[in-house]
Amino acid sequence: MKTENENQKLRVLYLEDSKMDIELVRNILEEAYDLDFTTVENKSSYVRALKESDKFDLILSDYNLPDFDARRALVIANKECSDVPFICVSGTIGEEKAVELLKHGAVDYIIKDRMARLVPSIDRALKEAEEQRSLERAQQALKQQNKELLKAKQKAEESDRLKSVFLSNMSHEVRTPLNGIMGFSELLVRTNDPEKKEKYVSTIQESCGQLLHIIDSIVDISIIEANQIQLHKSKVNLEKIFAYVYSLLQSDFQKRGIVFKKHDVPENLLHIYTDESKLVQILSNLITNGLKFTEHGFVEFGIDQKQNDSMLVFFVKDTGIGIPKEKQQVIFERFRQVDEGSTRNFGGAGLGLAISKSFVEKLGGKIWVDSTPNEGSTFYFSLSYE
Ligand code: ADP
Repeated sequence: MKTENENQKLRVLYLEDSKMDIELVRNILEEAYDLDFTTVENKSSYVRALKESDKFDLILSDYNLPDFDARRALVIANKECSDVPFICVSGTIGEEKAVELLKHGAVDYIIKDRMARLVPSIDRALKEAEEQRSLERAQQALKQQNKELLKAKQKAEESDRLKSVFLSNMSHEVRTPLNGIMGFSELLVRTNDPEKKEKYVSTIQESCGQLLHIIDSIVDISIIEANQIQLHKSKVNLEKIFAYVYSLLQSDFQKRGIVFKKHDVPENLLHIYTDESKLVQILSNLITNGLKFTEHGFVEFGIDQKQNDSMLVFFVKDTGIGIPKEKQQVIFERFRQVDEGSTRNFGGAGLGLAISKSFVEKLGGKIWVDSTPNEGSTFYFSLSYE
């Protein structure tokens, strides 16, 4: 008969105070099994054996002991190791007690003068215990599978919901500049006023820029999803990058009357080995968001010297609407926005932060946000020097 332990010995715990019975049972079992035999003769040594031993394959117990009996031993076994079969080996105890034992979970009751039944009874008990264990294992595996299925279902539903949100945002995001282009082109054709012409052209150009930005974001996210981000690293002068990003975005700030500040790069941190265009894109995404979500005050960016020393940490700080704590993680996932669905006050496809996060991570860093609703947000990202 196979047992659970590695060396295949049958580990038996025998609760018995009669030396003669112990010898008798040991001899019977040794003939049938490779045996690991532990005997205990009272309650305290029985409890200790159950607690200390890793596991027994079988418990045998006399019915009457000086300070104890098999019924109480069974209750303890049920508590300590309910999956180990328990067989009572005793003189005649009467039908009532025997039935009570079986009712409480003993697998058999062997009368001492019919010991020929012992080995077949043990074989059956071990077989049943093994079947019970494999049933439990199967149930466990089933439960686990169910859990995973449920998770996958929730993920699929969430992803489905996000795709719908994305599609409806997208059609809005694409339609707005397209309508602008079409409407103002028509006006352009009809007017001869040079001042108006200039205004219309500038609006058309702005709409084209927006459209291009959306297309770029979609292309970027597809590249990220296909795991095809290519890095082109070189020695980058941060002061030049900062000046470039500042000049790129300054006019947008002027139009909205929001202050835009660029901090000087500390002398000792002037150069970094990284991907210049990705760095420009990350900074632009964060600064553009800062502007978009700020009604009054300023947006500033620079290098945070208080932070980590093995990585260079950049910051973009605004005095805008802020982000509630429970949204501060999810906004870095694609298509996620603080305001989703029909309540949306701000445009956007929900891709900028997901793209920035992928780029930062590809460059070996991290991105995070520190924000208080109605006060503002500071986005940080770290990049390694090398
Ligand atoms: P988009 O701005 O196109 O919606 P992003 O991925 O750039 O997509 O940003 C996701 C969301 O994170 C935004 O919709 C907004 O809810 C929130 N968010 C990002 N930056 C800021 C910010 N500076 N202040 C407040 N909320 C922000």
